[in-house]
Amino acid sequence: MNNSPTDHVATNDHYVVIGNPIAHSKSPSIHTAFAAQTAQQITYQHLLAPLDGFAASLQAFRAGGGRGANVTVPFKLEAYALATDLTPRAAAAGAVNTLRFEVDHIIGDNTDGIGLVADIVQNAGVPMRGKRVLLLGAGGAARGAVLPLLEQQPELLVIANRTLSKAQDLQKIARQFSPASQVEAVTFEALSGLFDIIINATSASLNDDVPPLQPGLFEQCKLAYDMMYGAQATAFLRYADQYGVACRDGLGMLVEQAAEAFFLWRGVRPQTATVLANLRAELCASTAV
Ligand code: NDP
Repeated sequence: MNNSPTDHVATNDHYVVIGNPIAHSKSPSIHTAFAAQTAQQITYQHLLAPLDGFAASLQAFRAGGGRGANVTVPFKLEAYALATDLTPRAAAAGAVNTLRFEVDHIIGDNTDGIGLVADIVQNAGVPMRGKRVLLLGAGGAARGAVLPLLEQQPELLVIANRTLSKAQDLQKIARQFSPASQVEAVTFEALSGLFDIIINATSASLNDDVPPLQPGLFEQCKLAYDMMYGAQATAFLRYADQYGVACRDGLGMLVEQAAEAFFLWRGVRPQTATVLANLRAELCASTAV
């Protein structure tokens, strides 16, 4: 049987990353690489939704045969509300970054936290079991990370945030979803002790800023991780580097959360190492003069 190009396109399943703004997103190139590697016939594109038009844009995409979507800023809460079924980690996160469309259902998942854990444990080779973990920040990214972090069974998870009440909210969620875990909530000023892994989930790095931390915190630290990524080290990683700590940014988290979404959609787990290496090279080349 001959397949015309049209037949070939007709067999493709369509996916998007939806957000506003969206043109900067690297998800299409990541998923296109995963698809080529695993011989999955998909198309994956950017979808810019109006700020007041998330649900309408997504429904139009679904009506046109769309099979699933990644969701980014500022629509993760709306995606959570739109989903008819939530995975436990999406329920704990209170936000959805991955949607899978089925005939009568919309499955909502949150793969950000599992992406973070995969990048730390598998890619960086730093186990969390029995370790003392410090999570800086209590915004959307931190919230998505709490349950996947606790599933690694650290000895202690401390959540430090500028606004204490938000850290306490995450502590309550942690107690609800993982009652046996040791979780503390503090302000940066009240933060003390030693930690094996320190994760920056604040957005301070966006302004080249660092949360107010005591240098002693890094004394026994094995890994300083910033969820933000870029061609240059973030302010937080430059700060940690002064104390001789191994540093890692969030580019691997981005690739790993995408791999988990790909698995949810296609049932196939792509290899991430080459995709991450290529993305890192592109990122560095894009800012090279
Ligand atoms: P949110 O806006 O939801 O939360 C921001 C958090 O940062 C809050 O806890 C806020 O504290 C804190 N914060 C902001 N400025 C400062 C400051 N100057 N000093 C101390 N704390 C500060 O952002 P997100 O959670 O969505 O994103 C956080 C970071 O994670 C961003 O850098 C983002 O790029 C990154 N990210 C990376 C991903 C990846 O795949 N690599 C995925 C998702 C996010 P307060 O509550 O007091 O306001």
